[in-house]
Amino acid sequence: MEICRLPVRRDNYIFLLYDAQSRRAAVVDPADAPPVLTQLSQWQAELTDILITHHHGDHIGGISELKHVFPAARVYGGAGDRGRIPEQEVFLEDGDRLTVLRQPAEVLFVPGHTSAHIAYWFTKTADLFCGDTLFAGGCGRLFEGTPAQMLQSLDRLRNLPPETQVWCAHEYTLSNLTFALTVEPTNPALLERYTSVQRCREQGIPTIPTTIAQELATNPFCRWEQPSLHQATGYDEPVRVFAKLRGMKDVF
Ligand code: ZN
Ligand code: FE
Repeated sequence: MEICRLPVRRDNYIFLLYDAQSRRAAVVDPADAPPVLTQLSQWQAELTDILITHHHGDHIGGISELKHVFPAARVYGGAGDRGRIPEQEVFLEDGDRLTVLRQPAEVLFVPGHTSAHIAYWFTKTADLFCGDTLFAGGCGRLFEGTPAQMLQSLDRLRNLPPETQVWCAHEYTLSNLTFALTVEPTNPALLERYTSVQRCREQGIPTIPTTIAQELATNPFCRWEQPSLHQATGYDEPVRVFAKLRGMKDVF
């Protein structure tokens, strides 16, 4: 399975998964259809699956047009998103297993950014598609969830194998790391990552995917046990540390 990253809109990524042998493809969070259709026609591939992490417009905008061209493509989303994702036909719960392009995947219910947000974890290839839950160097805003819910969701994601490739839906890395440095100014791994991300972005190179290992080392929203973050927030209880950090980032 090949993974192709399509940058769209201001800072969104659409991910296309491609199985060259069967000429079949799947897409994750198609904000818009045209770039997906262009890539599919270059491969001469058939789109069989449309995987949605949550109902926001920049994750579902292309569904109807894709379904118009590939009526057999199945639209997957969280059970709690019933009525909010156009053409949804598979309603997924935590722990559900599916096979996409012959690869096994597991559904993780990760509420916080929205109340029905899910992530797709491809267990054999160690690829995680986590929408707007975990970002490189940050996490999603809490639109429909509590800090406690988001903390639990991030805790599950950070406990995946460290080598897991994390395909998050936005290129927010540089601004996330700029904030991270204000709360952990002496974290050596963070300082090093900031420099390399800055260099990438100057050249227009994407910083996605990241890995769980990299997030554990540098993402403050995965590091609530760190004394440096207790000092920065004035708390040591995980939910309070997390809520304070999220609040600081909201107004950063
Ligand atoms: Zn969103
Ligand atoms: Fe988004």
